[in-house]
Amino acid sequence: PARTRFAPSPTGNLHLGSIRTALFNYLLARATKGQFLLRIEDTDAKRTVPGAEERLYEDLTWAGLHWDEGPIVGGPYGPYRQSERIPTYKKHIEKLLTSGRAYRCFCSSERIDELNRRRHDKGLKLGYDRKCTHLSTAEAEERASRGDQHVIRFRSPETWPRYNDLVYGRSGHGAEKTKKLLADEPVYEDTILIKSDGFPTYHWANVCDDHEMHITHVVRGSEWMASTPLHVALYESLGWTVPLFAHVPLLVDQNRQKLSKRNFDSDISGFRAKGIFPDALVNFAALLGWSHTQKNDVLDLPQLERLFDLKITKGNTIVSFDKLQYLQIKHARRRVEAGGEPFEQMIRDVAVAVLHRYGAARVMQVLAKRPLRDVLATILRVGSLPYRSAVDFAEQCSIFFEPASPPTVEQLEHAAIDPAHLHYLRVAASTLCLVPESDWTEAVHHSQLRMLEQVPDESVQDAAKWKRDLYHYLRWALIGGESGPGVAVTLEILGRDASIDKIQAANR
Ligand code: GLU
Repeated sequence: PARTRFAPSPTGNLHLGSIRTALFNYLLARATKGQFLLRIEDTDAKRTVPGAEERLYEDLTWAGLHWDEGPIVGGPYGPYRQSERIPTYKKHIEKLLTSGRAYRCFCSSERIDELNRRRHDKGLKLGYDRKCTHLSTAEAEERASRGDQHVIRFRSPETWPRYNDLVYGRSGHGAEKTKKLLADEPVYEDTILIKSDGFPTYHWANVCDDHEMHITHVVRGSEWMASTPLHVALYESLGWTVPLFAHVPLLVDQNRQKLSKRNFDSDISGFRAKGIFPDALVNFAALLGWSHTQKNDVLDLPQLERLFDLKITKGNTIVSFDKLQYLQIKHARRRVEAGGEPFEQMIRDVAVAVLHRYGAARVMQVLAKRPLRDVLATILRVGSLPYRSAVDFAEQCSIFFEPASPPTVEQLEHAAIDPAHLHYLRVAASTLCLVPESDWTEAVHHSQLRMLEQVPDESVQDAAKWKRDLYHYLRWALIGGESGPGVAVTLEILGRDASIDKIQAANR
């Protein structure tokens, strides 16, 4: 069983890349019957955005990614907010100070800036010259207890450890980097673990917490890969078990540019506002870099929970929003077929959009006392209009809610209707108007239409052409086009009054 975590910093909205990271962690935990943790990495108070944390909980909940341990729900290794775990980071740093793997550095930020400026001008790598390592431990402790401002640095190892990435294979920058750094005047990475305000840096808090929370698998964006050798070195210097790492590839747009807010509105709140279903978004995010062996790409969360593994591709992942639209239509269909509350919710959303678009007066006229819910339920069930969002669907419903506009001559010509058939077509159409209100159902219209399919007169020679013209004519009359739901169900959806209006308008 894998213990995984999603460890966001509350610095803004959740975007597509982070929901994918959260999802992969969640799925790995579910697929292995492990646990999925949520941890808030908020030690950089300057970057924390008010309200971001709450939005994060809402977005994850909306997507169905429930965390087993974390803020709100709690758990055995809490608190799960890093700003509340400062004593933990202090406790562990003492071990590194004692073993000499970390040291206090009292250099002023001015000195460090000056050092770096000089190196930068010479085209050298930036770093720290270890001036403060000349202080004895006693001296350093004494200055620290006096309250002298300082940071705590990690003493970089001679060679950086390598590790086995579950996606990228054998990884790490190996010995080279340290050597290069050591050339010229000595300078070392010696990353800061504790800042002068006593707060830990990301690296230190992240490693301490993954250890304390018994994380077995770290699944995160490949932008963190460069930090992993440092993290592994930290685990090793403390004698801690190193978790397994799986870095997931970068998301890019069609032009292979990093997906950014500028070219796409890929915030989860944006998808939500557009009416994208959580199942569609989760399905979409799961396919960003993960390859499965199913025939069908349309997968819901329970299926993903069963199927997920770490077969993730290394290359950058191109995000195609057409795919999201495709999945949205498929998941909408699943909702309709499953029925129940999610379907009712869809109907309510479309009802609001329909009323908004066509106005109550028009809608009432078409409905002629039938409930809007039932009419929309039928339209959705028939399934000939793709559902992308409630607003988009309401727009497509114009074929039912716009007033009658009779087909023009050009339209009839376009439909290639035989002019010799026109008279008979009009008669056939008007016989449909004879069906009484109480029989105005799809089934009755089906049998009516089957009768009308018979050639009306011996002057009509081509039976196949007649049948084709009959349906073309009715489609043009009823929905102003050639595609759309079947004629019988269209008659039921339109209702008797609106159907008769349209047929009469076309016959004129
Ligand atoms: N707090 C980091 C972030 O915001 C977490 C990185 C990691 O998963 O180690 O992405």
